[in-house]
Amino acid sequence: MKLLNETHDPQLRSWVSSANDGGDFPIQNLPFAVFRRAGSGEAQRGGVAIGDQVLDMAAAAQTGLFEGPAQAAAQAAAQSSLNALMAMGAEASSALRLALSRALRHGAGARDKLQGCLLAQADVDYGLPCRIGDYTDFYTSIHHATAVGSLFRPDNPLLPNYKWVPIGYHGRASTIGVSGQTFPRPVGQTRAADAAEPSFGPSRRLDYELEMGIFIGRGTALGERIPIGEAERHVFGICLFNDWSARDIQAWEYQPLGPFLAKSFASTISPWIVTTEALAPYRVAFSRPPQDPQPLPYLSADFNSAHGGMDIHLQCLIQTEKMRADSEAATTLSRSNFRDSYWTVAQMVAHHSVNGCAMQPGDLLGSGTQSGPAHEQAGSILELTRGGKQPVTLPNGEQRIFLEDGDTIVMRGHCERDGAVRIGFGEVAATVLPARV
Ligand code: MN
Repeated sequence: MKLLNETHDPQLRSWVSSANDGGDFPIQNLPFAVFRRAGSGEAQRGGVAIGDQVLDMAAAAQTGLFEGPAQAAAQAAAQSSLNALMAMGAEASSALRLALSRALRHGAGARDKLQGCLLAQADVDYGLPCRIGDYTDFYTSIHHATAVGSLFRPDNPLLPNYKWVPIGYHGRASTIGVSGQTFPRPVGQTRAADAAEPSFGPSRRLDYELEMGIFIGRGTALGERIPIGEAERHVFGICLFNDWSARDIQAWEYQPLGPFLAKSFASTISPWIVTTEALAPYRVAFSRPPQDPQPLPYLSADFNSAHGGMDIHLQCLIQTEKMRADSEAATTLSRSNFRDSYWTVAQMVAHHSVNGCAMQPGDLLGSGTQSGPAHEQAGSILELTRGGKQPVTLPNGEQRIFLEDGDTIVMRGHCERDGAVRIGFGEVAATVLPARV
Protein backbone atom coordinates (compact mmCIF):
# COMPACT_ATOMS: atom_id res chain seq x y z
CA MET A 1 0.00 0.00 0.00
CA LYS A 2 1.41 3.35 -1.05
CA LEU A 3 1.02 5.76 1.83
CA LEU A 4 2.00 9.16 0.50
CA ASN A 5 0.71 11.03 -2.56
CA GLU A 6 0.64 14.58 -3.87
CA THR A 7 -1.92 15.67 -1.23
CA HIS A 8 0.76 15.21 1.47
CA ASP A 9 3.37 17.37 -0.27
CA PRO A 10 4.74 19.64 2.48
CA GLN A 11 5.33 22.39 -0.09
CA LEU A 12 1.60 22.82 -0.79
CA ARG A 13 0.05 26.13 0.25
CA SER A 14 -3.58 27.19 0.02
CA TRP A 15 -5.16 30.36 -1.33
CA VAL A 16 -7.08 30.32 1.97
CA SER A 17 -4.32 32.21 3.77
CA SER A 18 -5.21 31.06 7.31
CA ALA A 19 -4.45 27.50 6.19
CA ASN A 20 -0.77 28.44 5.90
CA ASP A 21 -0.40 29.72 9.48
CA GLY A 22 0.71 26.50 11.21
CA GLY A 23 -2.70 25.72 12.72
CA ASP A 24 -4.62 22.46 12.83
CA PHE A 25 -6.11 22.62 9.33
CA PRO A 26 -3.55 23.15 6.56
CA ILE A 27 -4.29 21.93 3.04
CA GLN A 28 -2.57 18.63 3.93
CA ASN A 29 -5.33 17.82 6.49
CA LEU A 30 -8.82 18.43 4.98
CA PRO A 31 -10.97 16.78 7.70
CA PHE A 32 -14.76 16.40 7.48
CA ALA A 33 -17.55 17.60 9.78
CA VAL A 34 -21.29 18.32 9.67
CA PHE A 35 -22.32 21.90 10.39
CA ARG A 36 -24.73 24.78 9.86
CA ARG A 37 -24.57 28.51 10.45
CA ALA A 38 -24.72 29.14 14.22
CA GLY A 39 -28.19 29.90 15.48
CA SER A 40 -29.77 29.28 12.09
CA GLY A 41 -32.46 26.80 11.20
CA GLU A 42 -30.49 25.79 8.11
CA ALA A 43 -30.13 22.18 7.10
CA GLN A 44 -27.02 20.47 8.39
CA ARG A 45 -24.51 19.58 5.67
CA GLY A 46 -21.00 18.28 5.36
CA GLY A 47 -18.01 20.59 5.44
CA VAL A 48 -14.25 20.42 5.09
CA ALA A 49 -11.88 22.43 7.31
CA ILE A 50 -9.33 24.65 5.60
CA GLY A 51 -7.51 27.09 7.89
CA ASP A 52 -10.08 28.89 10.02
CA GLN A 53 -12.79 28.31 7.39
CA VAL A 54 -15.31 25.59 6.55
CA LEU A 55 -15.77 24.66 2.92
CA ASP A 56 -19.52 24.09 2.57
CA MET A 57 -19.75 20.82 0.63
CA ALA A 58 -23.42 21.38 -0.28
CA ALA A 59 -22.39 24.57 -2.05
CA ALA A 60 -19.12 23.15 -3.41
CA ALA A 61 -20.93 20.16 -4.95
CA GLN A 62 -23.04 22.63 -7.00
CA THR A 63 -20.10 24.49 -8.53
CA GLY A 64 -19.43 21.99 -11.32
CA LEU A 65 -15.75 21.98 -10.35
CA PHE A 66 -15.58 18.27 -9.57
CA GLU A 67 -16.23 15.31 -11.82
CA GLY A 68 -16.43 11.54 -11.77
CA PRO A 69 -15.79 9.77 -8.44
CA ALA A 70 -14.82 13.08 -6.77
CA GLN A 71 -18.18 14.66 -7.68
CA ALA A 72 -20.06 11.57 -6.48
CA ALA A 73 -18.18 11.79 -3.17
CA ALA A 74 -18.78 15.57 -2.98
CA GLN A 75 -22.52 14.99 -3.34
CA ALA A 76 -22.40 12.41 -0.54
CA ALA A 77 -20.42 14.85 1.61
CA ALA A 78 -23.13 17.47 1.01
CA GLN A 79 -25.73 15.46 2.92
CA SER A 80 -26.83 16.08 6.51
CA SER A 81 -24.82 13.11 7.72
CA LEU A 82 -21.64 11.57 6.34
CA ASN A 83 -22.85 7.94 6.38
CA ALA A 84 -23.24 7.86 2.58
CA LEU A 85 -19.72 9.20 2.05
CA MET A 86 -18.37 6.72 4.60
CA ALA A 87 -20.19 3.86 2.87
CA MET A 88 -18.50 4.66 -0.45
CA GLY A 89 -15.16 3.53 0.93
CA ALA A 90 -11.62 4.81 1.03
CA GLU A 91 -11.32 5.21 -2.76
CA ALA A 92 -14.18 7.73 -2.82
CA SER A 93 -12.93 9.89 0.03
CA SER A 94 -9.46 9.72 -1.49
CA ALA A 95 -10.75 10.95 -4.87
CA LEU A 96 -12.53 13.83 -3.14
CA ARG A 97 -9.44 14.66 -1.07
CA LEU A 98 -7.32 14.89 -4.23
CA ALA A 99 -9.87 17.12 -5.98
CA LEU A 100 -10.18 19.39 -2.93
CA SER A 101 -6.40 19.58 -2.55
CA ARG A 102 -6.02 20.67 -6.18
CA ALA A 103 -8.91 23.17 -5.96
CA LEU A 104 -7.71 24.77 -2.71
CA ARG A 105 -4.04 25.10 -3.70
CA HIS A 106 -2.35 28.41 -4.14
CA GLY A 107 -2.94 29.51 -7.73
CA ALA A 108 -5.87 27.14 -8.41
CA GLY A 109 -8.40 28.38 -10.95
CA ALA A 110 -11.19 26.98 -8.75
CA ARG A 111 -10.69 29.85 -6.32
CA ASP A 112 -13.30 32.10 -7.93
CA LYS A 113 -16.04 29.49 -7.60
CA LEU A 114 -15.04 28.10 -4.19
CA GLN A 115 -14.48 31.38 -2.39
CA GLY A 116 -18.23 31.80 -2.02
CA CYS A 117 -18.50 28.33 -0.44
CA LEU A 118 -16.42 29.28 2.62
CA LEU A 119 -17.75 30.16 6.08
CA ALA A 120 -15.73 31.14 9.13
CA GLN A 121 -15.52 28.26 11.61
CA ALA A 122 -16.28 30.84 14.31
CA ASP A 123 -19.74 31.32 12.75
CA VAL A 124 -20.90 27.70 12.60
CA ASP A 125 -22.34 25.06 14.92
CA TYR A 126 -21.36 21.44 14.47
CA GLY A 127 -23.62 18.42 14.57
CA LEU A 128 -22.82 14.75 14.92
CA PRO A 129 -20.92 13.89 11.73
CA CYS A 130 -23.02 10.82 11.05
CA ARG A 131 -25.68 8.55 12.43
CA ILE A 132 -23.72 6.28 14.77
CA GLY A 133 -25.46 2.92 14.65
CA ASP A 134 -23.19 1.17 17.09
CA TYR A 135 -20.45 2.24 19.45
CA THR A 136 -17.79 -0.15 20.74
CA ASP A 137 -15.15 0.85 23.25
CA PHE A 138 -11.77 -0.87 23.28
CA TYR A 139 -9.10 -0.89 26.00
CA THR A 140 -5.91 -0.68 23.94
CA SER A 141 -3.53 1.13 26.30
CA ILE A 142 -1.67 -1.42 28.37
CA HIS A 143 -0.49 1.40 30.62
CA HIS A 144 -4.10 2.39 31.37
CA ALA A 145 -5.18 -1.23 31.75
CA THR A 146 -2.38 -1.94 34.20
CA ALA A 147 -2.88 1.24 36.23
CA VAL A 148 -6.67 0.87 36.47
CA GLY A 149 -6.45 -2.88 36.96
CA SER A 150 -4.15 -2.37 39.94
CA LEU A 151 -6.71 -0.01 41.51
CA PHE A 152 -9.71 -2.31 40.93
CA ARG A 153 -7.80 -5.60 41.48
CA PRO A 154 -4.49 -4.91 43.32
CA ASP A 155 -3.51 -8.59 43.31
CA ASN A 156 -4.37 -9.18 39.64
CA PRO A 157 -4.03 -5.97 37.59
CA LEU A 158 -3.61 -7.26 34.03
CA LEU A 159 -5.93 -10.16 33.24
CA PRO A 160 -4.40 -13.08 31.30
CA ASN A 161 -6.30 -12.37 28.06
CA TYR A 162 -5.04 -8.79 27.71
CA LYS A 163 -1.98 -9.50 25.58
CA TRP A 164 -3.94 -11.83 23.28
CA VAL A 165 -7.32 -10.18 22.74
CA PRO A 166 -8.09 -6.54 21.88
CA ILE A 167 -10.51 -6.19 24.82
CA GLY A 168 -13.70 -4.20 24.25
CA TYR A 169 -17.35 -3.84 25.23
CA HIS A 170 -20.43 -2.70 23.39
CA GLY A 171 -21.31 0.85 24.43
CA ARG A 172 -24.28 3.11 23.94
CA ALA A 173 -24.60 5.33 20.87
CA SER A 174 -27.65 7.35 21.97
CA THR A 175 -25.77 9.65 24.34
CA ILE A 176 -22.80 10.45 22.10
CA GLY A 177 -22.65 14.19 21.46
CA VAL A 178 -20.37 16.59 19.67
CA SER A 179 -17.98 19.06 21.34
CA GLY A 180 -19.92 21.59 23.41
CA GLN A 181 -22.01 18.84 24.98
CA THR A 182 -23.23 19.31 28.55
CA PHE A 183 -24.73 16.57 30.68
CA PRO A 184 -25.95 16.11 34.23
CA ARG A 185 -23.73 14.25 36.66
CA PRO A 186 -24.97 10.67 36.56
CA VAL A 187 -26.94 9.20 39.45
CA GLY A 188 -26.80 5.54 40.35
CA GLN A 189 -25.87 2.72 42.67
CA THR A 190 -22.48 2.66 44.30
CA ARG A 191 -21.01 0.78 47.20
CA ALA A 192 -18.30 2.24 49.39
CA ALA A 193 -15.43 -0.14 50.17
CA ASP A 194 -16.36 -0.34 53.85
CA ALA A 195 -20.13 -0.54 53.34
CA ALA A 196 -22.22 -3.69 53.57
CA GLU A 197 -24.84 -2.45 51.14
CA PRO A 198 -24.92 -0.07 48.16
CA SER A 199 -26.27 3.44 48.35
CA PHE A 200 -28.01 5.54 45.69
CA GLY A 201 -27.15 9.07 44.62
CA PRO A 202 -25.02 11.26 42.34
CA SER A 203 -21.69 9.79 41.33
CA ARG A 204 -18.85 11.14 43.46
CA ARG A 205 -16.05 9.74 41.31
CA LEU A 206 -16.75 11.29 37.91
CA ASP A 207 -13.92 10.98 35.40
CA TYR A 208 -13.01 11.60 31.75
CA GLU A 209 -11.16 9.25 29.37
CA LEU A 210 -8.77 10.58 26.73
CA GLU A 211 -9.45 8.44 23.66
CA MET A 212 -9.40 8.37 19.89
CA GLY A 213 -12.69 7.73 18.08
CA ILE A 214 -12.44 5.60 14.94
CA PHE A 215 -15.24 5.84 12.36
CA ILE A 216 -15.97 2.84 10.17
CA GLY A 217 -16.27 3.59 6.45
CA ARG A 218 -17.38 0.85 4.08
CA GLY A 219 -19.36 -1.75 5.98
CA THR A 220 -19.60 -5.53 5.90
CA ALA A 221 -22.45 -8.05 5.82
CA LEU A 222 -23.18 -10.53 8.59
CA GLY A 223 -20.74 -13.41 8.38
CA GLU A 224 -18.10 -11.44 6.50
CA ARG A 225 -14.81 -10.79 8.22
CA ILE A 226 -12.31 -8.06 7.52
CA PRO A 227 -8.78 -9.40 7.06
CA ILE A 228 -6.24 -7.27 8.88
CA GLY A 229 -4.55 -6.41 5.60
CA GLU A 230 -7.76 -4.74 4.43
CA ALA A 231 -8.88 -3.34 7.76
CA GLU A 232 -7.87 0.25 7.15
CA ARG A 233 -9.83 0.34 3.90
CA HIS A 234 -12.89 0.08 6.15
CA VAL A 235 -11.85 3.05 8.31
CA PHE A 236 -13.12 6.48 7.30
CA GLY A 237 -11.18 8.52 9.82
CA ILE A 238 -10.40 9.41 13.39
CA CYS A 239 -11.51 12.04 15.90
CA LEU A 240 -10.91 12.92 19.54
CA PHE A 241 -13.18 11.17 21.98
CA ASN A 242 -13.97 11.76 25.66
CA ASP A 243 -15.55 8.65 27.16
CA TRP A 244 -16.93 10.06 30.43
CA SER A 245 -16.92 7.49 33.23
CA ALA A 246 -18.42 7.24 36.71
CA ARG A 247 -15.80 5.21 38.58
CA ASP A 248 -17.89 4.50 41.69
CA ILE A 249 -20.80 3.18 39.61
CA GLN A 250 -18.32 1.24 37.44
CA ALA A 251 -16.58 -0.43 40.38
CA TRP A 252 -19.85 -1.80 41.74
CA GLU A 253 -21.54 -2.83 38.49
CA TYR A 254 -18.76 -4.06 36.20
CA GLN A 255 -18.48 -7.67 37.22
CA PRO A 256 -19.16 -10.04 35.51
CA LEU A 257 -20.38 -8.39 32.28
CA GLY A 258 -18.33 -5.19 32.08
CA PRO A 259 -19.20 -1.48 32.00
CA PHE A 260 -22.89 -0.51 31.80
CA LEU A 261 -24.42 2.66 33.32
CA ALA A 262 -21.00 3.96 34.39
CA LYS A 263 -20.29 4.75 30.74
CA SER A 264 -23.61 5.37 28.97
CA PHE A 265 -24.64 8.75 30.38
CA ALA A 266 -22.51 10.83 27.96
CA SER A 267 -19.61 10.53 25.50
CA THR A 268 -18.27 13.46 23.50
CA ILE A 269 -16.49 13.57 20.12
CA SER A 270 -14.61 16.38 18.38
CA PRO A 271 -16.49 17.72 15.33
CA TRP A 272 -13.73 17.10 12.76
CA ILE A 273 -12.89 13.63 11.45
CA VAL A 274 -9.33 13.42 10.18
CA THR A 275 -9.14 10.81 7.43
CA THR A 276 -6.69 7.93 7.69
CA GLU A 277 -5.19 9.21 4.43
CA ALA A 278 -4.33 12.55 6.07
CA LEU A 279 -2.55 10.62 8.85
CA ALA A 280 -0.25 8.81 6.39
CA PRO A 281 2.89 10.89 7.12
CA TYR A 282 2.57 10.08 10.82
CA ARG A 283 2.40 6.31 10.62
CA VAL A 284 4.91 4.41 12.74
CA ALA A 285 5.98 0.82 13.14
CA PHE A 286 4.05 -1.45 15.46
CA SER A 287 5.92 -4.02 17.51
CA ARG A 288 5.67 -5.98 20.70
CA PRO A 289 8.30 -6.40 23.38
CA PRO A 290 10.07 -9.72 22.64
CA GLN A 291 8.96 -11.19 25.96
CA ASP A 292 5.28 -10.59 25.11
CA PRO A 293 3.16 -12.96 23.02
CA GLN A 294 3.11 -12.00 19.35
CA PRO A 295 -0.36 -11.31 17.89
CA LEU A 296 -2.19 -14.32 16.44
CA PRO A 297 -2.00 -14.52 12.63
CA TYR A 298 -5.41 -12.87 12.09
CA LEU A 299 -4.09 -9.86 14.04
CA SER A 300 -0.79 -9.66 12.23
CA ALA A 301 0.21 -8.30 8.81
CA ASP A 302 3.32 -6.84 7.23
CA PHE A 303 1.66 -3.46 6.72
CA ASN A 304 0.51 -3.41 10.33
CA SER A 305 4.02 -4.19 11.58
CA ALA A 306 5.62 -1.57 9.33
CA HIS A 307 3.03 1.23 9.63
CA GLY A 308 0.24 0.15 12.02
CA GLY A 309 0.94 2.74 14.69
CA MET A 310 -0.15 6.38 14.58
CA ASP A 311 2.00 9.11 16.08
CA ILE A 312 -0.71 11.40 17.46
CA HIS A 313 0.16 13.75 20.32
CA LEU A 314 -2.73 14.04 22.77
CA GLN A 315 -3.40 16.62 25.43
CA CYS A 316 -6.06 16.81 28.12
CA LEU A 317 -6.96 20.08 29.88
CA ILE A 318 -9.40 21.31 32.51
CA GLN A 319 -11.19 24.61 33.00
CA THR A 320 -13.10 24.80 36.28
CA GLU A 321 -16.09 27.04 36.89
CA LYS A 322 -13.86 29.34 38.96
CA MET A 323 -11.29 29.53 36.19
CA ARG A 324 -14.06 30.44 33.75
CA ALA A 325 -15.32 33.16 36.11
CA ASP A 326 -11.75 34.49 36.40
CA SER A 327 -11.25 34.32 32.59
CA GLU A 328 -8.43 31.80 32.97
CA ALA A 329 -7.73 29.50 30.04
CA ALA A 330 -7.90 25.73 30.44
CA THR A 331 -4.80 24.20 32.06
CA THR A 332 -3.08 20.97 31.05
CA LEU A 333 -3.76 17.81 33.07
CA SER A 334 -1.71 15.38 30.98
CA ARG A 335 -0.19 14.56 27.61
CA SER A 336 0.16 11.18 25.91
CA ASN A 337 0.53 9.68 22.44
CA PHE A 338 -1.60 7.19 20.50
CA ARG A 339 1.57 5.45 19.29
CA ASP A 340 1.89 3.88 22.75
CA SER A 341 -1.29 1.87 22.19
CA TYR A 342 -0.86 -1.90 22.62
CA TRP A 343 -3.23 -2.64 19.71
CA THR A 344 -3.54 -0.79 16.39
CA VAL A 345 -6.61 0.51 14.57
CA ALA A 346 -6.28 -2.31 12.02
CA GLN A 347 -6.17 -4.90 14.79
CA MET A 348 -9.30 -3.44 16.41
CA VAL A 349 -11.23 -3.60 13.13
CA ALA A 350 -9.99 -7.10 12.22
CA HIS A 351 -10.80 -8.42 15.68
CA HIS A 352 -14.24 -6.77 15.83
CA SER A 353 -15.33 -8.45 12.60
CA VAL A 354 -13.55 -11.81 12.97
CA ASN A 355 -16.65 -13.52 14.35
CA GLY A 356 -18.79 -12.30 11.44
CA CYS A 357 -20.16 -9.22 13.22
CA ALA A 358 -21.49 -6.83 10.55
CA MET A 359 -19.83 -3.43 10.58
CA GLN A 360 -21.82 -0.42 9.41
CA PRO A 361 -20.69 2.91 7.95
CA GLY A 362 -20.62 5.40 10.82
CA ASP A 363 -20.01 2.85 13.56
CA LEU A 364 -17.72 4.33 16.20
CA LEU A 365 -14.86 2.47 17.87
CA GLY A 366 -13.33 4.06 20.97
CA SER A 367 -9.64 3.29 21.37
CA GLY A 368 -9.81 3.09 25.13
CA THR A 369 -8.06 5.58 27.40
CA GLN A 370 -4.67 6.48 25.97
CA SER A 371 -2.26 6.60 28.89
CA GLY A 372 1.47 6.63 28.29
CA PRO A 373 4.12 4.71 30.23
CA ALA A 374 4.78 7.53 32.72
CA HIS A 375 2.40 8.39 35.55
CA GLU A 376 1.97 11.98 34.37
CA GLN A 377 0.86 10.68 30.94
CA ALA A 378 -2.34 9.21 32.41
CA GLY A 379 -5.45 9.71 30.28
CA SER A 380 -7.90 9.73 33.21
CA ILE A 381 -8.04 11.54 36.54
CA LEU A 382 -8.50 8.20 38.31
CA GLU A 383 -4.93 7.40 37.33
CA LEU A 384 -3.54 10.91 37.91
CA THR A 385 -4.85 10.90 41.50
CA ARG A 386 -3.83 7.26 42.03
CA GLY A 387 -7.37 6.12 42.61
CA GLY A 388 -8.53 9.31 44.32
CA LYS A 389 -5.73 9.28 46.90
CA GLN A 390 -3.49 12.15 45.70
CA PRO A 391 -5.31 15.31 44.62
CA VAL A 392 -4.20 17.19 41.53
CA THR A 393 -3.43 20.85 42.32
CA LEU A 394 -4.27 23.33 39.56
CA PRO A 395 -2.28 26.55 38.95
CA ASN A 396 -4.95 28.65 40.71
CA GLY A 397 -4.68 26.49 43.84
CA GLU A 398 -7.89 24.53 43.29
CA GLN A 399 -7.61 20.80 43.82
CA ARG A 400 -9.33 17.91 42.13
CA ILE A 401 -9.64 14.29 43.17
CA PHE A 402 -12.45 13.64 40.69
CA LEU A 403 -14.44 16.09 38.54
CA GLU A 404 -16.76 18.67 40.07
CA ASP A 405 -19.88 20.33 38.68
CA GLY A 406 -19.02 23.06 36.21
CA ASP A 407 -15.71 21.48 35.17
CA THR A 408 -15.02 21.59 31.44
CA ILE A 409 -12.64 18.97 30.02
CA VAL A 410 -10.86 19.84 26.78
CA MET A 411 -8.91 17.41 24.61
CA ARG A 412 -6.63 18.27 21.72
CA GLY A 413 -4.52 16.24 19.32
CA HIS A 414 -1.99 16.90 16.61
CA CYS A 415 0.67 15.22 14.47
CA GLU A 416 4.05 16.63 13.60
CA ARG A 417 7.35 15.40 12.29
CA ASP A 418 10.26 16.60 10.20
CA GLY A 419 9.45 16.68 6.49
CA ALA A 420 5.68 16.92 6.95
CA VAL A 421 3.24 19.73 7.68
CA ARG A 422 1.72 19.65 11.17
CA ILE A 423 -1.97 18.70 11.21
CA GLY A 424 -4.41 18.84 14.13
CA PHE A 425 -7.73 17.43 15.26
CA GLY A 426 -9.22 20.65 16.65
CA GLU A 427 -10.64 19.98 20.08
CA VAL A 428 -13.40 18.33 22.04
CA ALA A 429 -14.75 20.23 25.04
CA ALA A 430 -17.69 19.31 27.28
CA THR A 431 -18.98 20.35 30.68
CA VAL A 432 -20.37 18.55 33.72
CA LEU A 433 -23.67 19.96 35.07
CA PRO A 434 -25.11 19.27 38.53
CA ALA A 435 -27.00 16.00 38.97
CA ARG A 436 -30.77 16.07 38.44
CA VAL A 437 -32.10 15.01 41.81
MN1 MN B 1 -13.42 4.16 27.53
